[in-house]
Amino acid sequence: MNHPAHKTPLNGLTYEQLVELCHRIGVKPVHAERLLASIFRRYNTDIGAITELPAALRNYLSECTSIFVPECTASQQAADGTQKLLLGMPDGKEVETVLIQGSGRLTQCISTQVGCAVGCTFCLTATAGLTRNLSAAEMVSEVFAGQHISGRKVRNLVLMGMGEPLHNYNAVAQFVRIATDPKGMAFSPNRVTLSTSGLVPAMYRMIDDELPCNLAVSLNATTDAVRERIMPINRKYPIAALMKAVRAYITARGNKRVLIEYVLLAGVNDSADDAVRLCELLDGLDCTVNLLPFNPFPGSDFKRPDDAIVTAFRSALASAGKVVVVRESKGREISAACGQLKTETKQQHLRTGG
Ligand code: SF4
Repeated sequence: MNHPAHKTPLNGLTYEQLVELCHRIGVKPVHAERLLASIFRRYNTDIGAITELPAALRNYLSECTSIFVPECTASQQAADGTQKLLLGMPDGKEVETVLIQGSGRLTQCISTQVGCAVGCTFCLTATAGLTRNLSAAEMVSEVFAGQHISGRKVRNLVLMGMGEPLHNYNAVAQFVRIATDPKGMAFSPNRVTLSTSGLVPAMYRMIDDELPCNLAVSLNATTDAVRERIMPINRKYPIAALMKAVRAYITARGNKRVLIEYVLLAGVNDSADDAVRLCELLDGLDCTVNLLPFNPFPGSDFKRPDDAIVTAFRSALASAGKVVVVRESKGREISAACGQLKTETKQQHLRTGG
């Protein structure tokens, strides 16, 4: 890993911060743009090789900064091309990232924390709790690793990996701004999606800050009783408060469509009554509903509903005029549940004393 602790990680800086750095060491701001393009467009990691920069700047950068690219400590590839990577961060902590092939475009699922504190009962990542937040540079480095390992351009970013992005608001906001900066990575804000379990105050902060990305909300239940059981965060921010924040977001963003995610758990939230209540909750809301049949992992208390139940649920929503898509978990055979590759690798290490 090329990330000496005393060096500033360049891939965590915004354009403004790079301009300030150039100013500090007496080189023209135009070099900040070249530097940004070289790092974030061409994913260059060797500062000494960026020959369009003045030698003074290159020397300074080589001495005082670094470009961090994480080590890939485990990987799995599914028949459909989905690739799951376990990435080692500078302190040895590991996070997962997933590369998903879809209609010619590569989508990368980004982790925002090592572990997660939200405690959703259907999620494997939740079982280990939260270890720490990731920095913006570490999130950018996940994209670097995705680009380098796939050898292809990542087109879409979804912040749906390990962690609750809005629990790590400042670093995530910095990452989103770096990712969507036209001078830098230049992802269209429409191609970056942040998914939250429903941290209502931080959703209002996203509105105030005009964070340039799409919003996805992990709803997963139609009554507070069920949602509290599977997502403890609902005790603090119940469904009514959450849906109010979603509506505020849509209004503030000029009717920007949101994504509603609904993990279907057999016998828990997949009844005909649930479908009716979900339609009521989403009444008049500009949204797409992603139905995600649960992908079981060893030791989980939940089951995937039968295909007939999934079809009936989808049809009920479609007949009510909702835009609804059933998303099968890509690469179901490769420990595709969030946190599963990390858990399996850890167990293997314990077994082998590694
Ligand atoms: S589903 Fe997301 S928010 Fe919930 S525990 Fe898992 S990682 Fe955290």
